[in-house]
Amino acid sequence: MRPAWAALLLSCAAIACAHPNPSGQSVESGQLPTNWYAGGASCTGTPPIRVQSYNADLLIMRQAACTNYEKPFLYLLFGRDRALLFDTGAGKIDVAATVDTLMKGWLARNHRASMDLVVAHTHAHSDHVAGDSQFVGRPRTTVVGRDTAAVRAFFGVQRWPTDLGSIDLGGRVLDVIPIPGHQPASIALYDRRTGILLTGDTFYPGRLYVRDTTAFAESIDRLTAFVKTHTITHMLGAHVENSRTPYVDYVVGTVDQPDEHPLDLGRAQLFELDSVVRSMRGRMTRTVLRDLTVWPVDR
Ligand SMILES: [Zn+2]
Ligand SMILES: [Zn+2]
Repeated sequence: MRPAWAALLLSCAAIACAHPNPSGQSVESGQLPTNWYAGGASCTGTPPIRVQSYNADLLIMRQAACTNYEKPFLYLLFGRDRALLFDTGAGKIDVAATVDTLMKGWLARNHRASMDLVVAHTHAHSDHVAGDSQFVGRPRTTVVGRDTAAVRAFFGVQRWPTDLGSIDLGGRVLDVIPIPGHQPASIALYDRRTGILLTGDTFYPGRLYVRDTTAFAESIDRLTAFVKTHTITHMLGAHVENSRTPYVDYVVGTVDQPDEHPLDLGRAQLFELDSVVRSMRGRMTRTVLRDLTVWPVDR
């Protein structure tokens, strides 16, 4: 008699099982570097942009501390048809040259001549959009506008901010989750291929500056609901401001951060943030958590 599992395997093969494999094999794997050190105040011997690969199709860049103390992270994702650059940095770096080099390498490895590039943003603050002008007018390049209307239209978000949008890079669908609160046009991107969620300045190991407390609380609620129903491997933001010591951050403006908190956060930190923000609804106050700080500021 054929065992029950064999029948299950056969039926799965016949319908090309679409359910995620509990072993995690449904997501494309990669490796997060353990060290993102962005250097000190001197640029001598430090590349202006440090590039590290999660895997061959997802590259993470970090701006050197000597060029801007914010030292933001930028992300470059490759699909079959086009690539997407998420943020252009805080200025004083040649992002376009770095992206050119990375794209040429990818195209050569994949035996391709050229491909389109979409330049989008976690949000519109200057430390994430300063390099935009380097991409305006470039061939085969689309720079998504920075305001809510432009972001909404480009990613097809029907009702902002409660609906999701998306973009298909070719065999790589990214879901767009509107998360206003830190800034009106803030979005998170979910990469279905790797299970990575890119959360910008809304959720990262540092000071979460909240300008619209109501919008932020609702955004964290929606982000939490999304995370509960999706396979999430890593949540990666745009800065690191906390140290490895629990509850301790580097003071605002610190350039050299040799003992940084890891870049990635997990579900536990998001659920804790959601719970804290829910409890403070309407009267948000500065609250230090183990890995991040909720930091309301005037609009
Ligand atoms: Zn910001
Ligand atoms: Zn920022």
